[in-house]
Amino acid sequence: MNPQDVLHALGLNAGLHTDGDLPVHSPIDGACIARLPTHAPDDARALIGAAHEAFQAWRQVPAPRRGELVRLLGEELRAHKQALGRLVSLEAGKIAAEGEGEVQEMIDICDFAVGLSRQLHGLTIASERPGHRMMETWHPLGVVGVISAFNFPVAVWSWNAALALVCGNPVVWKPSEKTPLTALACQALFRRALTRFGDAPEGLLHVLVGGRDLGEILVDDPRVALVSATGSTRMGREVGPRVARRFGRCLLELGGNNALIVAPSADLDMAARAILFGAIGTAGQRCTTTRRLIVHESVADALLARLKTAYASARVGDPLDSGTLVGPLIDRAAYDAMQAALAQARDQGGTITGGERLLADRYPDAWYVRPALAEMPGQTDVVRHETFAPILYVLRYRDFDEALALHNDVPQGLSSAIFTTDLRESETFLSAAGSDCGIANVNIGTSGAEIGGAFGGEKETGGGRESGSDAWKAYMRRATNTINYSRELPLAQGIRFG
Ligand code: NAD
Repeated sequence: MNPQDVLHALGLNAGLHTDGDLPVHSPIDGACIARLPTHAPDDARALIGAAHEAFQAWRQVPAPRRGELVRLLGEELRAHKQALGRLVSLEAGKIAAEGEGEVQEMIDICDFAVGLSRQLHGLTIASERPGHRMMETWHPLGVVGVISAFNFPVAVWSWNAALALVCGNPVVWKPSEKTPLTALACQALFRRALTRFGDAPEGLLHVLVGGRDLGEILVDDPRVALVSATGSTRMGREVGPRVARRFGRCLLELGGNNALIVAPSADLDMAARAILFGAIGTAGQRCTTTRRLIVHESVADALLARLKTAYASARVGDPLDSGTLVGPLIDRAAYDAMQAALAQARDQGGTITGGERLLADRYPDAWYVRPALAEMPGQTDVVRHETFAPILYVLRYRDFDEALALHNDVPQGLSSAIFTTDLRESETFLSAAGSDCGIANVNIGTSGAEIGGAFGGEKETGGGRESGSDAWKAYMRRATNTINYSRELPLAQGIRFG
């Protein structure tokens, strides 16, 4: 399927997208695949107004009925999994299996949210006063603004939208300016679900096409009750305080610097496979990409030998060719950032294997690289920084405490893993004194989370939690209700008044 056929299969009128001011390039070959008109600031504000209007009606629709809309969205996604996965590959450069995997994640969260639509329940709490009952009720919150990054162009939206919709909230979505086509495809699939649903209010989902200025409009508008923003720590540093200034709610999913510890007792085969997927999958452009390998000195040489062989033979190229493991970087800026980081690593005493540009003759406007291994003398500045590219920094350790200290001594706190068969080590890693990340795994890698758990991280990763578990609570407001069914009016804390 070429880009036009994919757009057609997803219900997008490709002819519409030829004369806009936002060019969309495929990282596969750098070709311009669409030119989209961007939204003017006033249009964006009007759409937020329409979503706010929709909220007045949607919040009163029973939650299980709201779940029916998300069920229908899940059906559309199932029916269009291949086409949407292909568009993810074309626009974000993911290999076909990962493009479709991203759509599967959307289907999974829809299923989860449908079940959740019958379980948005609060507690009944014992009252200290006779003849009284206390309970908590969860109510819809308001318009949810979603700002998303290029690297998960559709799944991050669905994590937010599926929960927001069953929780009674309309969504205004500002996708990355690098991946607006996949967002429009999601909007088209959502419209199909709406038509089948029948009586939903207008304005439950809007997509804002354009740059960060449109994100800033979401951030500053008091009608947007929750801003769920996924992207770099730089972005979060700007967004967080601005939303706080107007006492809005913020859910931040920012950069990671994820480490994997390999202990002496580890199964090295399993560890090597997990490191390979975690470090070079999605060309190192996952928030959960394995960026640091902290390996015990007794197994370091053996593990590194395996990794070097695997790195040298991993097929880099067109992500839609079967057999390709590593697709392109998103753009030239990503390539430049990678080269700058490798130069710094060299300056800071590192020994680099790989990292060079590949396929430049065939794709002069695309940015393919051999993933890099950087053996470092210590956790230097460059190692403590997230470079969004396939660089794996390798650090050796002698004792477990040293490994844990290295692990936690970075500003970010998203995902982490240990490979060990020693119970003491694994339990310590998961304990309060262990990994300080939002995700901590044993004998699996750092990336590839399931939707059933809450997803997010600590420190400069922003503290937000999305997806499974009780992440839905961020999309609702909690009311505590006390009901007096007695004929007295006792005050709490035994206070007598008058
Ligand atoms: P980015 O920060 O450049 O952009 C992300 C989004 O924020 C885009 O839609 C952009 O237009 C918008 N934006 C940028 N500045 C803004 C501002 N001041 N106000 C409002 N909106 C603004 O990130 P990117 O390059 O697209 O994505 C890569 C980054 O995202 C990496 O750091 C990665 O770790 C992170 N990420 C984190 C998660 C997570 O769940 N923690 C998931 C995916 C990506």
